[in-house]
Amino acid sequence: MLTSCVRSVFTDYDGTLAEIVARPEDAWPVAGAVDVLAGLVASGVVVGVLSGRPTSFLQERLGLDQVIYRGLYGFERAVGLGEVVVSAALAEASGDLALVRARLETLAADQTGVTVEDKTWSVTLHYRNAPAPAAIEDRVRQATQEAILDLALDMHPGRMCCEVLPRVKMDKGIALEEEAHRVAAQEVVFCGDDFGDLVAFDALDRLAAQGKKVMRGAVVSAEAPPLLLERADLLLASPAAVVEKFHAFSGL
Ligand SMILES: [Mg+2]
Repeated sequence: MLTSCVRSVFTDYDGTLAEIVARPEDAWPVAGAVDVLAGLVASGVVVGVLSGRPTSFLQERLGLDQVIYRGLYGFERAVGLGEVVVSAALAEASGDLALVRARLETLAADQTGVTVEDKTWSVTLHYRNAPAPAAIEDRVRQATQEAILDLALDMHPGRMCCEVLPRVKMDKGIALEEEAHRVAAQEVVFCGDDFGDLVAFDALDRLAAQGKKVMRGAVVSAEAPPLLLERADLLLASPAAVVEKFHAFSGL
């Protein structure tokens, strides 16, 4: 690099580095994704992956050392393939999470194609594989909301899924801001595709107000939140387009 400016690239995983697939466990990075992130690291760019997935999943799928992983919407943190550290406030929520998991499993048992994914520190109800997912969306969201009424948990709607998370102040935006400050980044890029990424755009707005140069990237899809696309500086047609754009960043 010609200057000492600290550049950083943060990215979501599902729908951004990996195609959205019917079974969440089948989401592998698209061709070139791992290599381009490694290339960014090699060219001195700070790289972070912010995702609702467990950090161990991100470490396994990307296998990259020197990358910052913030899993479970930032509740977890690991540098490279090292130990995953969980926030202490999160650990206190394990009882409520066990309760909601049991309730959602009962709910899913009555619905064809509805499944519960246990992410240890969050629970996700998936209805993508239901016969008519759009038709049951309101009902699924309402039932999930009812399942957490007496618990210190929050529901976050996603693309054909409902995530239930502990009511602890953490999200991709907080995580992004923490990481950007930690490395004193002067340039911060973030790319995402879903509702949970809007808070990362909010974080970029805060960083921009502090004089940082920021870029908001959004992957376009029929399911992408319109607000995310409206707010994006950069519209990317697919995860493959994200890889292509990241190549341009590593060449700077
Ligand atoms: Mg995503």
